[in-house]
Amino acid sequence: MTILEQAQRDLFKESDSEAELAKRESEKFRKMAICPACEEREKNVILARCSHTFCRECVLANVQARKRSCPVCMMKFGMDDIKPLHL
Ligand SMILES: [Zn+2]
Ligand SMILES: [Zn+2]
Repeated sequence: MTILEQAQRDLFKESDSEAELAKRESEKFRKMAICPACEEREKNVILARCSHTFCRECVLANVQARKRSCPVCMMKFGMDDIKPLHL
């Protein structure tokens, strides 16, 4: 077998794992939909001030703790800035 044939075989092997690649892609999108504060629930609210997205539970916990600042960028927000997120 020539080096070229070997290289072509390796290339074919890689394209063979397309399913694996698709799995990794969907995992990436799943992570994008997950709240960065708790990393377990899906995002369903957006802070209008800074456009960061979280799950409602984390935002409400933040409000109840009287912080009212975005867990990601620390921007202060009011109750009016909490908007439902439609993906
Ligand atoms: Zn959360
Ligand atoms: Zn923010």
